[in-house]
Amino acid sequence: MRRLLFALVALLAIVLLVGFAMRRTLTPRLAALVSEPPPPKPPPPLDPGVAWSGAWYTIERLDEATIAIGEPRSEGRNVSYLLLGDERALLFDAGEGAADLSPVVYDLTDLPVTVLPSHLHYDHVGSIEKFDAIALPDLPELRAQAPGGVLVPTFDQFLGVVVDREPPRIEVTEWWTPDEPVDLGGREVVVRHTPGHTRESVSLWDPRRRWLFSGDYLVPAPLYAFLPGSSIGAYRSTARTLLRTLPDDTSFWGAHDEKTDTRAPRLAIADLRDLSRVLEAIGRGEAEASGLFPRVYPVNERIELWADIGDH
Ligand SMILES: [Zn+2]
Repeated sequence: MRRLLFALVALLAIVLLVGFAMRRTLTPRLAALVSEPPPPKPPPPLDPGVAWSGAWYTIERLDEATIAIGEPRSEGRNVSYLLLGDERALLFDAGEGAADLSPVVYDLTDLPVTVLPSHLHYDHVGSIEKFDAIALPDLPELRAQAPGGVLVPTFDQFLGVVVDREPPRIEVTEWWTPDEPVDLGGREVVVRHTPGHTRESVSLWDPRRRWLFSGDYLVPAPLYAFLPGSSIGAYRSTARTLLRTLPDDTSFWGAHDEKTDTRAPRLAIADLRDLSRVLEAIGRGEAEASGLFPRVYPVNERIELWADIGDH
């Protein structure tokens, strides 16, 4: 009897230890087990300059050739960006797919459209299969995953389990090398590899406007650095590189909206400096945090950093 009890206690300890060690990948699975996918929010009143395109998406012109496409009824209030050149258009992120994004985009432009996701989470690749031309950043990890040019995101890259979605089959038509300009016709953009939120995360730099479309790396909301593939060390080195290379008057357009505003979320270099200060303090073991998993580090009045335990 004592032997059985000992075996049970040992088994329980092993289950707890393994569960703790696998907390990042188990968390989305447990979340999906204990809760239903969140229902669509009621349509909010829109801020000046923002208009509905159908029942799900909103349109906001940031300038004559750049349009933010919002999803204010989604849980994460996702925002994708349509960049128009003279010859081609680039869609940065493809929403969560609650409604088909392609008619909204083709309503806005007659140009051929290429989609580039900032990363492979479900809320950025939802409508990606609806577009004929798909670019991915030319990163060794992604290349290795795409024999024959077709990439299916892994469970951890996609995390669609929390909304009960299957990963897309991404037929890659172009591989864009980080730091090399892509010509849209009279408008150049540059893919920047900005890991931290995930390993394959990229941002998009528009040098003429001094805009960085920052995906989930920098948004006016919790920054998720506790997920599978997230890393505080990568977050910190990305911040160092961006601060070293971006002009002081850079604006950042994030991929998730604020709770109180339906306009596209815009941040400044001061926000990146605030984030960098916290990341450096975490590295020195001097940052204040609350909570256990995730550890919540305040950054400023608009931003928090959510990290894993012991990730420095
Ligand atoms: Zn994400």
